[in-house]
Order: sequence, then structure tokens, then C-alpha cells
Amino acid sequence: MSKFGCSCGHVISDVEAPNEVTGALISDKDEHAFFELLEATALDFLEHLKANNLAAWRAKHFNEIYPTDAVPAELLADAIYSRFLDHTRAVMECDACGRLYIERVHGSNRYRGDDPELDPTGDETPHVLGPVVSAKPPPASRE
Ligand SMILES: [Zn+2]
Repeated sequence: MSKFGCSCGHVISDVEAPNEVTGALISDKDEHAFFELLEATALDFLEHLKANNLAAWRAKHFNEIYPTDAVPAELLADAIYSRFLDHTRAVMECDACGRLYIERVHGSNRYRGDDPELDPTGDETPHVLGPVVSAKPPPASRE
């Protein structure tokens, strides 16, 4: 996503980041699952940190192209951010008229207006706060 045409005629641009036209929407259920994963991820991180074994923690959460010079705080923040993205749906707000657009399917980069009557879909749920991602368990330990 970089530019999106609003029905008012304005073009919403999220080229600049961070910005005030894009955000995230999370259901109560996904919020609960996110915070459970956050706790598990942080506890696992601390256990690996205490054991001086962050390399194993890194391998559980990132692939080999992840920067090897990342400091521990960056590792944890990036893992948490990834969990956050897994549990949210993207939203955009037109900075001209205020219309809100909600991602149709998690990760799809396709949006609908906040009024489903304006933009009906045949094969997609009309709900906004329905399941984004089923709660994934924390990555299994390799130890
Ligand atoms: Zn607009």
C-alpha cells in the first residue's frame, strides 16, 4: 500500500511512515490472544537472556536474514511487533473526509469502507472484528 483512492476523490497516501492515515484494528478476542502471546514471548526472551542464549531465541523468531547486529531490545521489539501485526487488521482514514477503510482480509492489502452497504462483498465476512488469525501458540522451544 502506498496510495489509495477514497470515494470522496482524495488520494490517501501512507508513503510517509509513521503517519496519521493508517493504523490497526484489533478485536477484543485478538487483543486477549496478543497479550497472552506477548507475555509468553517476553518470558521466553528473559529466560534465554538469563541463560545467555539469545541466539536460540533469535532462531525461534527470525530467519537467517534478520540482522545479526540487532541488540536485545530490538530483537524483543521486532518479535512483539510481528505478533501485533498477526493479530490486527489494517485501517486507513481519509485525511480529507474522515472515511475509514478497513482491510478486508488480514494481510490482503484490500480495503472496504466502514459501511458494508457501500461496498458489499460476496465471499468475505461482513464483520470487521471477526477472526484475524487464530491464536497461534508461541513458537516451540528448540531446546
Ligand atoms: Zn475521503
